[in-house]
Formats: sequence, C-alpha cells, structure tokens
Amino acid sequence: MPVHVLIIEDEEKIARFVELELLHEGYEVTKAGDGRSGLALAESGKFNIVLLDIMLPELNGLEVLRRLRKSSQVPVILLTARDAVMDKVAGLDLGADDYITKPFAIEELLARIRVALKKGAAPAAKPQTLCWGELELNISGHSVTCRGEAVELSHREFELLRILLENKSIVLSRDTLLEKVCGYDFAGETNLIDVYIRHLRNKIDERFGFHMISTVRSVGYVIKEESGG
Ligand code: CA
Repeated sequence: MPVHVLIIEDEEKIARFVELELLHEGYEVTKAGDGRSGLALAESGKFNIVLLDIMLPELNGLEVLRRLRKSSQVPVILLTARDAVMDKVAGLDLGADDYITKPFAIEELLARIRVALKKGAAPAAKPQTLCWGELELNISGHSVTCRGEAVELSHREFELLRILLENKSIVLSRDTLLEKVCGYDFAGETNLIDVYIRHLRNKIDERFGFHMISTVRSVGYVIKEESGG
C-alpha cells in the first residue's frame, strides 16, 4: 500500500512543488487549499500523514489541528512561517508531531515525513513509572500525578519531564533536550525548551511548592535526586 499524504496548503505553488516531489518519491498525494475542506479530508482517516500549513483561509491550521485531534492521531507536520515561535509551541501542544519552517529544503521535509511515519508506527512503550518524591510519571499511561492529583501536561511537556526524570542528576543542555524532546536537531530553536520548562514549573513546582527543576546557568537544566534538594 502506498503511503498517502494530505497537503493542506493554500499557496498553490508550494503545494504543487511538494506534491511533485512526493509523487516522485512514490507517495500518493491529495491536496486541500483551505482549512475547512482539509479538515474534512483529514478526518476521513484515509491518510497516513498530514502536512498542515498554519496560515489558511476558512479555518487556520491550528484550529484544524485542534479539531482533528479530537478524533484522530494521524501524524501531522506543520508548515510554519519563520520566527513564528508561538505558533510552533501552540502547534506542538495541540498534538502536532513536528514542524518545518518555510522556506524549507525538500530533503528536510522528506526526512521529517519518514521520521513522523516511523514514530507513528512504533510499538507502545512498556509500562513504567518514574518518580520524584510524591510526583509519579507513568510512561505507558502518558500521565502524571502528584499527591494523588492529576497534572495535565501537553505532549512535549510530558516528554521533557520524562527525559529529565530518566536522567536524574545529569545536567542536560538545551540542545540535548531539544533533540531528545523533538527527535532530532531543531538547531537555533532552544528557546522552545525554556518555554516548556516555564510551563512545567508553573504546573508542578509552583502548584505543589517543589523545587524540582534546577537551572544550571549557561549549561541547561537538571532534576536532582529528591534528597539532594
Ligand atoms: Ca498559507
């Protein structure tokens, strides 16, 4: 079965260019030129992966993604404008698998498509729990609780917390965290990690009165052993 890609992009030149490259690579391709028709197609369940522009007529890409995620976990790669950091953060929080900044090299897009497809097909992780004091992170259940209360985290916040907990007492640089959380090198976008750390501190440290995540100046972040403070 060929892999079927849905391109939701109103800029016909870009959509056509990507379509031709994907056809050349052996993918099947369907295009939609606005958010509303794109969402209807994406919800049909016929596609293996969706390339989703953010600035779209009818419904913008983030709204398409928000609605799509109510019924579908199809891999989504966002096509974003340069410097639209908040769009990227919002998109990843809404459940996008990845994003690529326009203008992009087609080889990079093809690589990201392959990674997103592989991730989507990966078997579920074994049940496992990571703890820090009264905080408990359940990997397979993708849930976090503290003192019996649920802590709601976005996918990327959860991944960041998981990686920090798996590497207790090891200081991880922003670049390393970025690569581990996002799967590969998002060079130059390390401020994304600062945004997610801020979210985690709001949702955990401030709420429960912890000092769990430490900043190591000019290096990165670490979660120390509970006893070590
Ligand atoms: Ca557009």
